[in-house]
Amino acid sequence: MEREGWRLSDKEWREWVEALLRAGKLVIAPVKENDLLLFRHVLMADEISVSDQGKAQWSPKEFLFPRSEPLLIYRLRGAEVDLEEPKADEREQVLVGLRPCDAAGLSRLDDIFLLEEQDPSYAQRKKHTTIVSLACDRAEPECFCTAVGGSPAGTQGSDLLLLPLDDGWILRVLTPKGKELVAGWAARWRPALAEDWDRTEERRSAVENSIQLSPLSAQWGTALEKSFGHPLWESLGQRCLGCGICAYVCPSCSCFDINDEGNSFCGTRCRSWDSCAFARFTLHASGHNPRPTQPSRYRQRVLHKFAYFPDQHEGRFMCVGCGRCLRLCPVGIDIHHTVERAASAASPEEERP
Ligand code: SF4
Ligand code: SF4
Repeated sequence: MEREGWRLSDKEWREWVEALLRAGKLVIAPVKENDLLLFRHVLMADEISVSDQGKAQWSPKEFLFPRSEPLLIYRLRGAEVDLEEPKADEREQVLVGLRPCDAAGLSRLDDIFLLEEQDPSYAQRKKHTTIVSLACDRAEPECFCTAVGGSPAGTQGSDLLLLPLDDGWILRVLTPKGKELVAGWAARWRPALAEDWDRTEERRSAVENSIQLSPLSAQWGTALEKSFGHPLWESLGQRCLGCGICAYVCPSCSCFDINDEGNSFCGTRCRSWDSCAFARFTLHASGHNPRPTQPSRYRQRVLHKFAYFPDQHEGRFMCVGCGRCLRLCPVGIDIHHTVERAASAASPEEERP
């Protein structure tokens, strides 16, 4: 591991955040609100909550992929149509204090929205966003980042990483964008010492060892694809209510719908979050629905994340093990358990990964 970083007190990194705010950057960070930890725009560094409270209630993906956003504005003038693109928001934003699983989740959104033909509004926001994540000091019961290739101090998707120490932090630089965000500050900070890095390694290893859920190897994907027609999916998916909570709280879910909101003369074409759990997600205008039952929709969610996506993205799962869907599913559906059960059911014992 390259050890480039500074040893900061709590006061020092908050001073740096204050300077970012004074420089006109938008700062988005976890804030305690009525016992919930939520990502909010902050006006002062002291609003940010980075104590050992685990992850925020839902992921920060809405700051790159909004819940709802206008794609274009239309006006009809007789047989003519005027189209206007909404003005792009070019303000610089800094996401501070997201956990490594959330940063990794945002990198999955990059895989989806920054393909050869980039999604313009996502690409624009991403260009103006710097990500400062926060390593975990403890694992929550639902966490399973290590089971899907992540780590409580993982670096994927982050530009800078705050690593907790008993009496302060190491701010680790990961990308040129991260380096740019601390330019001018490095001269007044102390470089982290070898013993500081060693202590953060010990912490990482202790948190990793506390995660109980077993690793899901990339081979599970093949086994899962084989499970497509297995009757087990009926019983696994029957409990699903189709509420869509799992998709909305997930840092890597990217389903959306596009609707025109307006009247016969003018309106706005909007993109809004959607979920493959909803019955109307795949409903055709003809009335045909290729995923007509809740089990078939639940199977799609799991196979997309653990079989189809890894197949197209060098084995990376489209799940980063944040565990929010386990924590918040109203009927207690556990995606890690589902993958293990379905993959095992579809493979003879001697071939199980
Ligand atoms: S949160 Fe649970 S019940 Fe709701 S759609 Fe997801 S799996 Fe189904
Ligand atoms: S599928 Fe569940 S555990 Fe995996 S990243 Fe999404 S919300 Fe987190």
